[in-house]
Amino acid sequence: MWEADVIGSTTWATGRACRAAECLQWSEEGILAVITAGAIHIVTPLVGYARDDAGDAAQAPHARAPWSITSIDAKRELARQPAVPEPADEEIAAATTPSTLGEAWHAAAWSPATVGPLHTCALAVINARRQLSMYVCESDARTGPYASVDVPYGRWADTRTGVARSLATQFSAVRWSPVSPQRHAWLAAGTRGGDVILWNAYAQPMHVVQCWRVPHAVCALSWCAWLPDGTVRLAVQTSEQMHVFSLRDDDEPLCESVGTCTLGLAQVSNLHWADTIVLRWATPSALVSWEVGAASPVSVPVTIGAHAAGSDARGTLRDDGRMYAYDGSLLATLPLKQRVWGYVRDPSGLIVTLSSADETASWRYMISPTLTLTLWLPQERWLPNASLPPIVAWRTWAYALERHADDSALWMPLHARLAQLEAQAEALCQRTTGVAAWSAAHREAQCLAWATHVAPSFAATHLGGAQRLCAWLGLAVRAAAWDAAMPGAYTQRLVRALEQGATSPDLSPAVVSYLQGAKARIDKPTNETTMETCPACDAPMPPTLAATAPCPAGHIFDRCVVTYAVIDGVRTWTCVGCARQAYVPACEVISKWLPAMTGCLACGNRWRHS
Ligand SMILES: [Zn+2]
Ligand SMILES: [Zn+2]
Repeated sequence: MWEADVIGSTTWATGRACRAAECLQWSEEGILAVITAGAIHIVTPLVGYARDDAGDAAQAPHARAPWSITSIDAKRELARQPAVPEPADEEIAAATTPSTLGEAWHAAAWSPATVGPLHTCALAVINARRQLSMYVCESDARTGPYASVDVPYGRWADTRTGVARSLATQFSAVRWSPVSPQRHAWLAAGTRGGDVILWNAYAQPMHVVQCWRVPHAVCALSWCAWLPDGTVRLAVQTSEQMHVFSLRDDDEPLCESVGTCTLGLAQVSNLHWADTIVLRWATPSALVSWEVGAASPVSVPVTIGAHAAGSDARGTLRDDGRMYAYDGSLLATLPLKQRVWGYVRDPSGLIVTLSSADETASWRYMISPTLTLTLWLPQERWLPNASLPPIVAWRTWAYALERHADDSALWMPLHARLAQLEAQAEALCQRTTGVAAWSAAHREAQCLAWATHVAPSFAATHLGGAQRLCAWLGLAVRAAAWDAAMPGAYTQRLVRALEQGATSPDLSPAVVSYLQGAKARIDKPTNETTMETCPACDAPMPPTLAATAPCPAGHIFDRCVVTYAVIDGVRTWTCVGCARQAYVPACEVISKWLPAMTGCLACGNRWRHS
């Protein structure tokens, strides 16, 4: 039984899928990269983004595309690259130069959010010539354009000559580590010469921080999550062995081998970590798990296939569409007949598959590979995941509402969670609470409040308090982050915001007294002017902090959603969720204390340049 329904599907003639199980990747921002030999497609499921984004209610949900798609242009990419010099010796050329006939891409990997501009995700790619570069989007990540940025190579190949040298600079695998507690993240790439190279993802420009060698060409890489002891593990699969290295959370990470096992001749696919100790992969006849450090891996036999298409917490999907649990029992069969190349589930629960869609008409002389991408809605309901931007956390729920007109039972767990969060937040008022704890509560409140954007009116009543909670937690975050060294004008606006916040209706006495206390703590007499004036006519502005600031003469300015400053310049960011703007110069002045650049303070979604 396959417990998911099709939301939409599309077919591309952009060549074969690049690497089974690695051809589909969700970013932390809910954007999917589909990596094919001819093009990299960037796919964003639309529901959950501002509803009016996708048209008015008159347009039935099923009539519009379930996603927006943009592509990374392969021809432009290859034209940009210098010509590869022709090796004089034909045999060496055949052995060392990958075939690039009709192909542009070999592999790609999303970075963690925060590596790209405005805390977005960047895409590291290996082209068909096995060169590594990075793509970033300066504007809206859903629509592109994605621009190429070079990854500076280090000097690891300098001492090698001839074939060894070209193999050492031909990349074969790429993966980003998760962000560490000390804010380190690395881009790891493997070469055909057996080199493993790490770049510091946050350095500007990026630079190599570590490189070492394994005995054979690198085939695949996989990072686990950070361990509590401040280390992270990188699995490096070569043609013959599996190696695991441990790296410390440090500027110059030292790597230490923690285990090696022999793979034999079996083709490996879907290399991934089950947790921080057990590494999993698939072979054509088995699902393999290896407790790192144990003498040998454990295999569970399954029906013979070619590869695994991907995994989730429950099991692994094979290329024949059968899903097996890790004990080898059959869980489900995908209702698709053709070979499956990719299977991924995003943290909000949405499933995507990529399968072959080759023409079977016998009169055709040539069959060029075509691929079908399918988006599935699981029948079970996942709770919104507060670690994601609210727009993404809500996606499966939004689809469920559109497709099944769910009754209010859908909302009961959320209602319960909101009540719990309200109680927790009031408890925070009773003690000295740091920015981190307030921010965590605020993020979850933003996620619940976002529901009111996507919910029908009957359901919105179940989450009535979410926006109120979100609003006062936003003030609490700012108050906790306040510092006496902050500019006086910002402090004055914050004082006004706290004052106005404390008078909003339906707040509990504990919250009101907390906000009043915060205001009293911050409000120090200053010599600076206390009145804002209109940037156009210098008339005094009324002391409100609404989204727009009108002056008595009728000039209207937008207010920065982070700093409440009147926006009178063009350097702004726009929130992809609520469309409110932030005024970049005002944000920069206080960014040392309040790092608001990671997302909109009102709704929690990401910025785009505007
Ligand atoms: Zn004016
Ligand atoms: Zn927003």
